[in-house]
Amino acid sequence: MQFNGVLDHLKIYEAGKPIELVVREYGIDASDVIKLASNENPRGCSPKVIEAVRDEATKMNLYPDDSMYELKEALAQKYHVNESNVIIGAGSDQVISFAVHAKANPNTKVLMAGITFAMYEIYALQTGATILKTPSAGHDLAQMRDIYRANPDISLIFLCLPNNPLGECLETKEVYDFLDEISPETLVVIDGAYQEYASFKDPAKKILPNDIISKYPNTLYSGTFSKAYGLGGMRCGYGIAQPEIIKALLKLRAPFNITNLTLKAAIVALRDDAFVQASVKENFEQMKAYEAFAKELGFKTIESYTNFIVLEFDASQNSSVIAQKLMEKGIIVRNLGAYGMNAIRVTIGTPEQNKRFFECFKTLYM
Ligand SMILES: *Cc1c(COP(=O)(O)O)cnc(C)c1O
Repeated sequence: MQFNGVLDHLKIYEAGKPIELVVREYGIDASDVIKLASNENPRGCSPKVIEAVRDEATKMNLYPDDSMYELKEALAQKYHVNESNVIIGAGSDQVISFAVHAKANPNTKVLMAGITFAMYEIYALQTGATILKTPSAGHDLAQMRDIYRANPDISLIFLCLPNNPLGECLETKEVYDFLDEISPETLVVIDGAYQEYASFKDPAKKILPNDIISKYPNTLYSGTFSKAYGLGGMRCGYGIAQPEIIKALLKLRAPFNITNLTLKAAIVALRDDAFVQASVKENFEQMKAYEAFAKELGFKTIESYTNFIVLEFDASQNSSVIAQKLMEKGIIVRNLGAYGMNAIRVTIGTPEQNKRFFECFKTLYM
């Protein structure tokens, strides 16, 4: 069968391996499998969310409130914007896909960092747009500037702050200086999936959605409940932008794109900031253990402003072999071989999970 020709250039996105797969393939008990592959919150979510979702379960027969007023209002209050500045998606992934489909087409180009969140490229290729990446792996704004100046047909730019899968993060001031030079016709998506982490570790990297969208009306900030809030399985994310942008994205949204359980979970999660702050604090305490571990074994790391860390190996090790061996022991990490790196990305787990990772790694390699 012939399909839309743009599909010829697309690969199917490979998500982090689920625990169920390791149970099936290696016969390991599910309770012994540790997943450090998808940057989920290892502490789970706020107990208040679980309780609220349980209560909400009796309403499964009803369609959700498609205006999503309560959640938009809560986000608007938190970020000091209006409800008309907010769009909700089934994960921020969906908001990102709306942004791409609103701006990209076969006559336009999409600019991003050399190594960044894979979905930017996948969505852009769906539209037939041309992808431009900086030669350097992480965000190099001088390179982005040069590419932007040389390509007036760039309609969309992605900045992942901090960047997945590398973990680095630009300073807010550099981002603003860069935005000063971008045409109001070019949409700049600022993906803040890990902003809760970055702004805790270094306030100079904090992005304030209300500030950035008022100074630069051509920006869209995206955030998610999947990482620090611990709600990856509920699929909820949001975009914050000027109403003109939000209205364009809403044209691409199917009705009822998130469930009423999801809506409830997100609303209650937003009220429990203490849970998020405790998670983020423990994350960076545990990150130190990974840095010490890497130093001890002579692996390079990239300074991380997220809930994961990249361990880079020299030629004596092969990251795909390491990831495979760890998986056979019930520890799932992300091999970055597909990005042309000899490295793995490890989500910071609970203290117990991290301890098991270190011990297991050492039995394999010492
Ligand atoms: C996890 C992630 C997202 C979105 O996740 P959703 O679960 O779809 O909200 C977006 N961007 C980056 C960089 C991510 O790592």
